[in-house]
Amino acid sequence: MKASIDQEACIGCGECVALCDAVFRLVDETGKAEVIPGADCGAAGCCKEAAESCPVAAIIIEE
Ligand code: SF4
Repeated sequence: MKASIDQEACIGCGECVALCDAVFRLVDETGKAEVIPGADCGAAGCCKEAAESCPVAAIIIEE
């Protein structure tokens, strides 16, 4: 499972980081979240949970 974030849409709320910090992190410079390079949430599925919880639906998941 691979995640990406629509940078235009992200409002930097931090919800995805709270749910899945193995994959997402907040970037100080932009105030938005990004996917940690090379990160893959694999079987844990927490990136999917984060995508469902994102208030602006900015997280795109490719299975
Ligand atoms: S949950 Fe969505 S809006 Fe909030 S920081 Fe993550 S990607 Fe951005």
